[in-house]
Amino acid sequence: MKKPLINHHVHTTGSDGKLSPEDTIKLAIEKGLNFICFTDHYPCPDGFDKWFCGFHSEEYYANVMGLKQKYKDRIDISFGAEVNWFLGHEDWIKKEVKKRKYDYILGAAHHLGRPSHLSINNSEKNWNETIKHFGSIEELIKEYYTQVRLMAKSGLFDCIAHFDLVKVWNEDSKYFSEDEKWYRQEVIKTLETIKESGICIEINTSGRRKKSRDEHPSFWILEETGKMKIPLTIGSDSHNPSDIDYGLERAMELAKKADYSDILIFKERKPIQVKI
Ligand SMILES: [Zn+2]
Ligand SMILES: [Zn+2]
Repeated sequence: MKKPLINHHVHTTGSDGKLSPEDTIKLAIEKGLNFICFTDHYPCPDGFDKWFCGFHSEEYYANVMGLKQKYKDRIDISFGAEVNWFLGHEDWIKKEVKKRKYDYILGAAHHLGRPSHLSINNSEKNWNETIKHFGSIEELIKEYYTQVRLMAKSGLFDCIAHFDLVKVWNEDSKYFSEDEKWYRQEVIKTLETIKESGICIEINTSGRRKKSRDEHPSFWILEETGKMKIPLTIGSDSHNPSDIDYGLERAMELAKKADYSDILIFKERKPIQVKI
C-alpha cells in the first residue's frame, strides 16, 4: 500500500496563503499527497489585532465545499479552520465554529496579554516587545503555556497548533535553553493537561523554515507525547507553493521514532486513525 502523505495544516487565499484553494489541491495531488485539510485563519472578534482577521468569506466557503466534491476521487480533503485563542472569548468561538460544517478546529495561541495584542510570531521586533511587556523570557513563556493549558481545557478545539511556538525566534538558544528545569516543567504540565483533555497535537514542520530551524514540537517533547499516548497529526502550515509537502515525510519518520504507529485525520470533528 502507498505510504500516507498527510498535510493537516494548509493555508490558502482564504486567509494569508499564496495559492487559491483549487491551485493548492492541484499541487497537493501533483506532489503525491493523499490528504489535505484547509486550516485558513479564522477572523478575530471585534477590537482585536487585525493581523489575522478578515478571512473566510462566503465565496471561499462555497468554493471549498464544491472543490471537496470535485476532487474527491483524487485526494481526500477536510475543511477546517485555525482559530485564535483569545481568553474571555470562549462563547464567541463556540458560536462561530458552529456556523459551518467544519471537519477540524485547530486552536492557536499567537498572541498574549489581556487583551491579547502581544504577538509571539509575527516579527522578532514584536517578540522582543512582548518580552519587555512580561519583564522576562521566563514570565512570557509561563504565560504562553498557561494559555495553551486553558485552550486545551476549553473543549473548543480538536488540536493544539505549533505546540512550542515560543521557540520560533530561539536560534541557537538565543533567548532560552530548552534544558532549563522551569521550561521542561511547563512543557510537561501542559502535556498532562492536553492528555486529560483528549485532544491532539500536530507535528508542524514550519519551524524548520524559520529561525528555530526545527519542527514544532521539539523531538524531546514528541518523545514525551509518544510515551503519554497523546494523539498526533502532521501539517506543514503551508502558505507558499513550496510548503505544500514541506517536511511531511521527515515528520512521519519522527512520529515513528517517537513510537507512534498511527496519526489522526479529522472528519466532522471526529478523529480517524491512519497507520503510518
Ligand atoms: Zn498558527
Ligand atoms: Zn497556520
